[in-house]
Amino acid sequence: MTYQKWLAEYDRAYADPLSVGEQECPHCAARRLNLVFVQDTRYLEKGRPIFWCGNCLKGIFFGRVEYPENAKVITEEAERTERPIPNFRVIPPD
Ligand SMILES: [Zn+2]
Repeated sequence: MTYQKWLAEYDRAYADPLSVGEQECPHCAARRLNLVFVQDTRYLEKGRPIFWCGNCLKGIFFGRVEYPENAKVITEEAERTERPIPNFRVIPPD
């Protein structure tokens, strides 16, 4: 059930990335959700979505997808060097 809630919030964030900060975390209800796409090094028009809560540090991620409009995209190098994505606990599928 928990995973389904995360999926639903992810779908909402994917549809409108700019409003992700207004969504409530499925776990702790904080409005601290983040959605970042890590750009694929070969297929630059695609990236790995990382979706997490900055308050309780839980979240989910997926394989390569196309970016939605207004997506926040970072390079793999930026992911490594700037570490914008904290270590979070991955919610497994139910
Ligand atoms: Zn949370």
